[in-house]
Amino acid sequence: MAKFTEPGLTFDDVLLVPAYSDLQPGEADTTTRLSRGITLRIPLVSAAMDTVTEARMAVAMARQGGIGILHRNLSVEDQAGQADLVKRSEAGMVTNPITCSPDDTLADVERLCATYRISGVPVTDVNGVLVGIVTNRDMRFETDHSRPVREVMTAMPLVTAPVGVSRDDAFALLRKNKIEKLPLVDAAGRLHGLITVKDFTKSEQYPLATKDADGRLVVGAAIGVGGDAEQRAAALIEAGVDVIIVDVAHGHSKGLADMIAKIKANSRVDVIGGNIATRAGAQMLIDAGADAVKVGVGPGSICTTRVVAGVGAPQVTAIHEASLACGPAGVPVIGDGGLQYSGDIVKAIAAGADTVMLGSLLAGCEESPGELIFINGKQFKSYRGMGSLGAVRNRERGGASFSKDRYAQADVGGEDKYIPEGIEGQVPYRGPVSAVAHQLVGGLRQGMWYSGCRTIAEMHDRCELMPITAAGLKESHPHDIQMTVEAPNYHRR
Ligand code: 5GP
Repeated sequence: MAKFTEPGLTFDDVLLVPAYSDLQPGEADTTTRLSRGITLRIPLVSAAMDTVTEARMAVAMARQGGIGILHRNLSVEDQAGQADLVKRSEAGMVTNPITCSPDDTLADVERLCATYRISGVPVTDVNGVLVGIVTNRDMRFETDHSRPVREVMTAMPLVTAPVGVSRDDAFALLRKNKIEKLPLVDAAGRLHGLITVKDFTKSEQYPLATKDADGRLVVGAAIGVGGDAEQRAAALIEAGVDVIIVDVAHGHSKGLADMIAKIKANSRVDVIGGNIATRAGAQMLIDAGADAVKVGVGPGSICTTRVVAGVGAPQVTAIHEASLACGPAGVPVIGDGGLQYSGDIVKAIAAGADTVMLGSLLAGCEESPGELIFINGKQFKSYRGMGSLGAVRNRERGGASFSKDRYAQADVGGEDKYIPEGIEGQVPYRGPVSAVAHQLVGGLRQGMWYSGCRTIAEMHDRCELMPITAAGLKESHPHDIQMTVEAPNYHRR
């Protein structure tokens, strides 16, 4: 083995070579595969980080046609609860609706409605038989919140439909009766599902949304390899997640391969493994049965792995190397970390990625966890590495760190003994995910136009990447001008 490899390249080192084009940007098809079993209409995945993806971000990403991966720096119950929130958020049919009992108080119902962002709840007896429904309309003029639901609810008979009712018939019933909620009941009157008018309007509003076979938004979640990982996977699968990512900083390891094989043997969800940065690492994950391979050792904006451990591989080369193993096996590649501009998405895909995972580009969104921070009149949001001291301290969640094992330091005792591989900071507030995703996917479409590619597969086959010099990079950014206004898709680094 030679001591030195070829130099590695990253986003700033390359440009796509322009090529003959017979399409308009709007004709480009950004449909891609996250994993063997999950198709996305846009190639964007939000990172499993505690300042990026909880339920709200996951809902927003799935609505846009991408997907969110719930982070694991919280207890098993809380992470499964987040998955549950996503699966109940917008649905063709809610298969296991939130209910209350006639003896609950109005205050109980209001709490449920606030937690799940719903406007009403079916009321069932101890046998699960539908006895009424209580909605905003019933509660609006009530001042005594200790009153029992039975005194306030709209009691049976209600308009209901049988389990298995078609979408069209359900919509006709909602319209004819001018109601917003249609409970689905069996012959014995037991509640089995709920269809709401909100779900129909959401479908029109988000035509690209990523949905499962039941019409529910698709969501993924991260787990590790040690400690409670198996119990966590079981709870997440029970809550309905569509894909599990076994996520450790060094994925080219026996522990990861074993965990992928274990989950694959016991469930039907797709299982993704990562992170790796070499062809051999990708091959090991493919051999272990991974349904996609996540690439990235040290490219992240908040990451210090390469300076702390001296290890990593520039991301464009790493993606390409992984794709050499993944392409022939039919296993999708996720390029995770290091992307700062929409052009980096184009470069990642040209190098062989099927999707990209984004941290810093999404941490500033309305839907990321955490409050807005005001500094000198400008708006920011917190963003921190999962290997940072802040994430390991995790004060927001009672001080328990559930992510130390991502960096193989689960057993490290005191904070002063921990070796951080990330930092904490803040990124500019960027507004809702819908606006950010529009710019990012718009940039990708422009890139597909310049390279003459109609599909992601054509980009893999046809795009050529040209290494550039420092002068080429300087020429690529705005230069020789005092920038006075940033564009919505361009910020200074
Ligand atoms: P970004 O999009 O901000 O450049 O990178 C996000 C990615 O960085 C995440 O998806 C994850 O793979 C990686 N990452 C998150 N936190 C840390 C950390 O503390 N250290 C390292 N080495 N990588 C991190």
